[in-house]
Amino acid sequence: MTDCIFCKIATKEIPATVVYEDGEMLCFKDINPAAPVHLLLVPKEHFDSLAHAQPEHEPLLGKMMMKVPKIAEAAGLAGGFKTQINTGKGGGQEVFHLHIHILGRPV
Ligand code: AMP
Ligand code: ZN
Repeated sequence: MTDCIFCKIATKEIPATVVYEDGEMLCFKDINPAAPVHLLLVPKEHFDSLAHAQPEHEPLLGKMMMKVPKIAEAAGLAGGFKTQINTGKGGGQEVFHLHIHILGRPV
């Protein structure tokens, strides 16, 4: 999607501090952190939100969830972290490209 900020981060049109990347997903630092560590894990494929996920996205979503603790540990959150997925305006979503917030403070 051409006007999507997270698609542009995924294609490196917009800079971000990337902490993890593979063929299917990208994780980068949130520009306005709500915790000492605040990362966003996004699929490279655009879909608006969890409510827009299709059956073919099920393996990708599973891979992303399995990657979260590994990324969190590498970011200093081996002691624990929070995950959050905002969905739709009613869920507080502001960027309409699915993303998983990973938040925490090193302990
Ligand atoms: P949400 O409310 O779940 O849609 O969260 C969107 C998040 O994206 C917010 O925490 C923003 O701070 C973050 N954000 C917006 N633009 C950027 C950007 N260019 N780079 C990194 N994070 C961003
Ligand atoms: Zn997008």
